[in-house]
Amino acid sequence: MIRITKLNKFYRVGNHPLHVLKNLDINIEDGEMVAIMGSSGSGKSTLLNILGILDAYDSGDYYLNNLLIKNLTEKKAAEYRNRFLGFVFQSFNLIPFKNAAENVALPLYYQGMARKQRIRESEAMLERVGLLDWKTHLPNELSGGQKQRVAIARALVSNPKLILADEPTGALDSTTSGEVLSLLKEVNEQGMTVIIVTHEMDIARGAHRIVHLKDGEIINSTS
Ligand code: ADP
Ligand code: MG
Repeated sequence: MIRITKLNKFYRVGNHPLHVLKNLDINIEDGEMVAIMGSSGSGKSTLLNILGILDAYDSGDYYLNNLLIKNLTEKKAAEYRNRFLGFVFQSFNLIPFKNAAENVALPLYYQGMARKQRIRESEAMLERVGLLDWKTHLPNELSGGQKQRVAIARALVSNPKLILADEPTGALDSTTSGEVLSLLKEVNEQGMTVIIVTHEMDIARGAHRIVHLKDGEIINSTS
């Protein structure tokens, strides 16, 4: 699913290049659930953004599903994101003036799917995350855990191969975090590859494998 070799990423801050990811080698197989851990500033989000084709890297290679992800046009990057990837963020990133069903249906709208079919698929996804009864509610009428389940439904609705989750439980209490983790594990058991960035050991332990980042380097990778 993912093959990364000798990947380096710099940010240029004034005249000083900041070396954020250092010679990373990572392989992730289809169907794995991998946690990326590391303290704040270790490069986790930068790595996830590169994996999500939201950001470029400076050297090395990144293959996603055997496609080289390098020097893509914005059009190609968007096409690959739509085809392969689903995103889940700490802050949910739901659209506040759209209800749960409309938020979930949004990726399908961008795919050009007809309205009736969009509604059908988004309701099926809300049912899968246990929130069909909440379909007409706005995000501010939902609890944090419910918002994150809507965000997961939105990530799943385009049937991606890979779910990228950046601190998906970072804004949730521990009970709700456990529920969100269970949902991600369930999704993984149904065959989707899941990569989850987290600070929390309890969450990371739910994955098959933990990749530890420190100052942009992998310090160990346990299975
Ligand atoms: P993490 O997600 O592990 O907290 P990040 O990937 O967000 O770490 O950041 C890694 C390092 O890169 C940090 O030192 C951060 O300050 C720096 N950084 C992140 N984004 C940018 C940016 N857009 N421009 C410059 N420096 C950045
Ligand atoms: Mg981060």
